[in-house]
Amino acid sequence: MAEHEHVRVAVIGSGFGGLGAAVRLRREGITDFVVLERADGVGGTWRDNSYPGCACDVPSHLYSFSFAPNPDWPRTFSGQDHIRAYLERVADVFHLRPHLRFDSEVKLMSWDTQKLRWNIETSSGALSADIVVSATGPLSDPKIPEIPGLDSFPGKVFHSARWDHDYDLRGKRVAMVGTGASAIQIVPSIQPLVSRMTLFQRTPPWVMPRVDRAITGAERWLHQRLPFTAQARRGLLWGIRELQVQAFTKHPDELGLVEQLAKRNMARAIKNPALRARLTPGYRIGCKRILLSNTYYPTLAQPNVDVVASGLTEVRGSTLVAADGSEAEVDAIVFGTGFHVTDMPIAERVVGAEGVTLAESWKDGMQALRGASAAGFPNWMTIIGPNTGLGNSSMILMIESQLNYMADYVRQLGVLGGRAAFDARPAAVQAWNHKVQERMKRTVWNTGGCTSWYLDANGRNVTVWPGTTTEFRRATRRVDLAEYDVLRAPALETGASALDGSQVGVEA
Ligand SMILES: Cc1cc2nc3c(=O)[nH]c(=O)nc-3n(C[C@H](O)[C@H](O)[C@H](O)COP(=O)(O)OP(=O)(O)OC[C@H]3O[C@@H](n4cnc5c(N)ncnc54)[C@H](O)[C@@H]3O)c2cc1C
Repeated sequence: MAEHEHVRVAVIGSGFGGLGAAVRLRREGITDFVVLERADGVGGTWRDNSYPGCACDVPSHLYSFSFAPNPDWPRTFSGQDHIRAYLERVADVFHLRPHLRFDSEVKLMSWDTQKLRWNIETSSGALSADIVVSATGPLSDPKIPEIPGLDSFPGKVFHSARWDHDYDLRGKRVAMVGTGASAIQIVPSIQPLVSRMTLFQRTPPWVMPRVDRAITGAERWLHQRLPFTAQARRGLLWGIRELQVQAFTKHPDELGLVEQLAKRNMARAIKNPALRARLTPGYRIGCKRILLSNTYYPTLAQPNVDVVASGLTEVRGSTLVAADGSEAEVDAIVFGTGFHVTDMPIAERVVGAEGVTLAESWKDGMQALRGASAAGFPNWMTIIGPNTGLGNSSMILMIESQLNYMADYVRQLGVLGGRAAFDARPAAVQAWNHKVQERMKRTVWNTGGCTSWYLDANGRNVTVWPGTTTEFRRATRRVDLAEYDVLRAPALETGASALDGSQVGVEA
């Protein structure tokens, strides 16, 4: 049988995480790597989410790589097309194209305990890798709830992350299901086109004004000629958010003031007291992601919009029925119902050293050492893993911290030479997770009185990082080998034995 290709590192995914990993590997002098991507282009989130109004909700100068500043961001919160173009440029400028393998969906990867490497099956063939960096994204597999009768709905159905641009919404009766970050961008963008819009709202979000404006030519000129001005701008945006973290993590009561501002924001646009009551959240602000929009509330006050303050429970032909019994006849349903976050599909496809999948190993909840490594899954790490999400700042800060960790991991593994692997010690994973969960107890995400996508089926917050980005940066600066078992495959190499004696001494 022909030997398949073997690489030092296989990166999975080509969003911010995967491309960032690729840049970092090249900087470490590693060129023997591939980036496996199931789609036909780079961009991840920013390739898949092309719905009307799609834009970042963290300012662009912070929501971009520190090592690839873009002085030309057109707006303070730039749109999807600009962010996607930025990621395409990152792929070009950093010479990542030769490493990219599109239409290569990873179907299965299993750890070879003899050869200490990952065997990877993809839709475009098999390969093996010493190290896997999984950057499949926390918000990349859309979730559509199981609703009785949906299959027999005669009209159009799609998810916000799979927008059907061939479908003409003009003059249609459209249902928007969900009121999350995507929905509040979609609703104002399509309301002027549709004949009627019915918004199914299970829980109202807290919505704050969005300080969005065009970045002037003078600002751009300044950022191009004097790059430190762009850095200062980024630093300011970061610092403000860093100062807010304490309120989210330690003093949720302080957020009451912000609630007053959000209520005023609503009252300015919604004059009808009954509608205002339906739109007023019954939980502490920050418990769910705080959403930013200047157009959401004014849109909901328009005569062709109905807000059903209840979840969609049934579809009967073209009639949508809510939990409160209200009905709406529609031509199209747009689901803004989020993603498989706490049950990431990739976990079903990773088989570790004990022959169990990562999903099985995480059946009581996802956990990973420093958000990266899972016990029993040697030389496998994830970018934006468990408890690395942020409620108020840029995920790129967390991704870059994880890239530091990845770089040190690869460096330290390289020092060992030969075929070797690091496997996170179960006690280290548990200690890390215990610390995270202890800190989580006081946070607004756990105490604010809401149910959010940050929580898993057991009600445990496995998604958010309960601290500042600085603390996470410090925690991921270096790999502490005391937290790992070092594995070696002596029989396949020079006869050297396992470093700590407790690990493999495998037969060939
Ligand atoms: C609409 C939207 C707006 C957002 N706005 C912000 C914001 O303003 N600020 C912020 O901080 N964060 C925001 N986020 C979060 C955002 O997901 C992260 O900031 C970041 O883009 C994640 O990058 P990633 O590379 O980890 O994942 P992704 O961008 O999701 O990329 C993952 C990639 O992995 C690929 N992949 C998945 N499974 C496989 C497989 N089995 N085989 C091969 N390839 C696979 C996918 O096709 C995808 O290309 C937003 C998310 C969404 C959905």
